[in-house]
Amino acid sequence: STQSALNFGAGPAKLPREVLEDVQKEFLSYQDTGMSLIEMSHRSKEYTKINADVQTAVRELLQVPDNYKILLMQGGGCGAFAAVAMNLINRTGAADYAVTGTWSAKAAKEAAKYGEVNLVFPKADKPGSIPDRSTWKMNPQASYVYYCDNETVDGVEFSYIPETNGVPLVSDMSSSIMSKKIDVSKFGVIFAGAQKNIGPSGVVVVIIREDLLGNPMKCCPSVFDFTHIAKENSVHNTPATFSVYVTEKVLQWIKRNGGLDEMAKQSQEKSGLLYGAMVASGGFYSCPIDEDCRSRMNVPFRVGGGDEKLEELFLQEAEKLRMHQLKGHRSVGGIRASLYNAVTLADVRLLVQFMEEFQKRHA
Ligand code: PMP
Repeated sequence: STQSALNFGAGPAKLPREVLEDVQKEFLSYQDTGMSLIEMSHRSKEYTKINADVQTAVRELLQVPDNYKILLMQGGGCGAFAAVAMNLINRTGAADYAVTGTWSAKAAKEAAKYGEVNLVFPKADKPGSIPDRSTWKMNPQASYVYYCDNETVDGVEFSYIPETNGVPLVSDMSSSIMSKKIDVSKFGVIFAGAQKNIGPSGVVVVIIREDLLGNPMKCCPSVFDFTHIAKENSVHNTPATFSVYVTEKVLQWIKRNGGLDEMAKQSQEKSGLLYGAMVASGGFYSCPIDEDCRSRMNVPFRVGGGDEKLEELFLQEAEKLRMHQLKGHRSVGGIRASLYNAVTLADVRLLVQFMEEFQKRHA
């Protein structure tokens, strides 16, 4: 069937139907060349334009200041964990990490291979809260302060940008990029794997302030060297051309659909609807995350107080209604609904309707 499913996956995740149709239309012959884009050189004039356009779109959408470079890299978010450390930790040999969940914990572990890592607050046994900024123990000698804006697995999102008193701030925005406006000038580096809000897997967008370039560790591979990739305009070697091309289309779709103001508004509405439904359920559905850091992008919840049999049934019934990829991450269990930009308010309404009916039958 060509009818699309309701896709609440955490990533790779739903992309706008319009974009997929557009890609399909020009798949065999890109702009009347008689060739597919995936058959073309990354040095062709066609790809050169895509490479430029995607950078322009990122710059426009996020209002990236002129003293920042935009890089398109490979290696995924996990590659960026290593790249950030290899490119930035050299200045003082130490870095500060705020660990608020699965992905920042992995980033801290990776960085520890390259320098001294200080956790600015003790790791919580169970993520679900962000210690108040005033309690963070920061090292003024840190090369950078690192945090994950939105923890995809745990459903913990920052509602503010941490103040670092001049130490460069690095943020993993893999699962929140282009879902809200951000003041890029507050950051040293922002990076994001594309495969949630802005494209397919295979490409990582890195936004870096120029003065942070030029000091990679000797061991840093060229493909991870921000300075080198910036110099080569992101075509040091063969990029994931197809992924970059689709990403460019998604960014144009965001622009056509009201830009980041509209994405932010819809994200509030969608997540608000779901969190509201949990409150209305009187505890049948529950979210373990503190209210002040509940993610607008990934909403984890439990059914029947964490009754695994009931949750299994919930997933089975949801599948029958073509609601897919609702299973929580294997490390935390339960249910997780991801509400990236391409997921519509109508999709969320259907999910909430199903939740209400399920509760009537099983509470
Ligand atoms: N950071 C975040 C916030 C993520 O959600 C993920 C992946 N889900 C990663 C990093 C790792 O990305 P990748 O799988 O591309 O290495």
